[in-house]
Amino acid sequence: MACENQKLHVFFLPFLAQGHMLPTVDLARLFAARGVKATIVTTPHNLPIISRTIGQPKTTSHNIIINTLTIKFPSLEAGLPEGCENADTITSPSLYPNFFRAIQLLQEPLEQLLLHHHPDCLIANMFFPWATDSAAKFGIPRIVFNGIGSFALSALEHMRLHKPYKNVSSDSEPFVIPSLPGEIKITRMEIPESFRDDNGQWAKISEAMCEAELKSFGVIVNSFYELEQVYADHYKNVLGRKTWHVGPVSLSNRDMKEKANRGKEASIDEQECLKWLDSKQPDSVLYISFGSMTNFPKPQLKEIAMGLEASGQNFIWVVRSQKEEEEKEWLPEGFEKRMEEKGLIIRGWAPQLLILDHEAVGGFVTHCGWNSTLEGISAGVPMVTWPMGADQFYNQKFVTQVLGIGVAVGVKKSGSSEGESVEKEAIENAVNKIMEGEEAIEMRNRAKKFGKMAKEAVKEGELKNPNSSMASGNQKLHIFLFPFLAQGHMLPMVDLARLF
Ligand code: UDP
Repeated sequence: MACENQKLHVFFLPFLAQGHMLPTVDLARLFAARGVKATIVTTPHNLPIISRTIGQPKTTSHNIIINTLTIKFPSLEAGLPEGCENADTITSPSLYPNFFRAIQLLQEPLEQLLLHHHPDCLIANMFFPWATDSAAKFGIPRIVFNGIGSFALSALEHMRLHKPYKNVSSDSEPFVIPSLPGEIKITRMEIPESFRDDNGQWAKISEAMCEAELKSFGVIVNSFYELEQVYADHYKNVLGRKTWHVGPVSLSNRDMKEKANRGKEASIDEQECLKWLDSKQPDSVLYISFGSMTNFPKPQLKEIAMGLEASGQNFIWVVRSQKEEEEKEWLPEGFEKRMEEKGLIIRGWAPQLLILDHEAVGGFVTHCGWNSTLEGISAGVPMVTWPMGADQFYNQKFVTQVLGIGVAVGVKKSGSSEGESVEKEAIENAVNKIMEGEEAIEMRNRAKKFGKMAKEAVKEGELKNPNSSMASGNQKLHIFLFPFLAQGHMLPMVDLARLF
């Protein structure tokens, strides 16, 4: 097993956005730790972030090697500006169709790599529906890794299949998501417009994704079975997907360096950040971050600043890079001076895992991207949910209604980062609800229980209970061996089975 050429070789193809690249590196690390040769395929502009997140083998806790390969990103062919190779560099929503066109054009260069390197398996993100056919051309299985939990995957699939939003009389009328366990209600406003347009680009992509997923070898889910048993079973048994719950994959980042180096270079010195947190009481700091893509308008940033100040809570607030000369427009006068003791603003990229895992952090205001949501769950903190779009409204329902570890800030409409504003009173109220009082204590206790379960789910080297994440007989790779009916064939086949 040890020789590099004899190792099982798996190609990983993440979608080109931080929220997909980072968990894919985590996943590749899990595979590499089990003796698989792991190779991540990406584009030149995304390579530095992936390499940084992988880290140097000597500086990581596992001494793990993950390889990388690059393919050219066809920016110009797809009508994108040079260097626009990551979803977080898209400056206008009108460029999304071009970005997805470029994603389609990656099929040919990816197939060249498959031809050249002969991997044994391709694990590709859901946004590459063509990957199932590409893998089939080379006689290898394609596995889907889409970075969403079973609850949202099931909800999205039922919405696609039944289109219940067509039968309501207004955008604000709540309706039950059909066939989804738990009587979960949603409104038309909470579903992104592109998801409701039967003839748009998204409808075509989502049909192709579903078809490719059903034809694929199976789906790796970044979640753990114990967190969402009902929905994990539903996705498998009712919606017919073969799944493996291997998460939370972010917990593969064990030491401080791995946590600090995940993603872009942090805009704060990690030691300074830890020192600040060390000076605070356990569970007394709120962490506020809206992922890698959200760019709030300045008036909304100002409301957040005022809401935080009024709440009186300690906080670390991540604001995506804002020009210094514009700060007067969103930062209340004298805010940082007044908040010197209580608050820290990180302008740009925060070492999120490092912060969330610190014992001083006791609450998380999140946009409900699935990675952030699961990272909050793993850290055992209650959350204020502030979804923007995509699958985030589903994740909000999961956190607030199913798990009971969050309070909604009250956003009503998908796409709200561009329009609907949340006022400072709503922010102050929601924040205080998860940080203070009886209800907060109950939520925190529940959240801590889920945090413990998350860590249990990824413990190495232990056989889990029969229903747990990796060990379930149903979720294991199942291989039939069929020897010729002669001792000379049957006996070595038994030996081979033992090796498996
Ligand atoms: N992240 C981070 N620092 C930041 C912003 C984001 O480390 O300042 C990480 C975060 O830990 C998560 C990912 O980037 O793993 C964002 O993924 P998510 O699904 O939460 O949101 P998206 O950015 O895709 O909307």
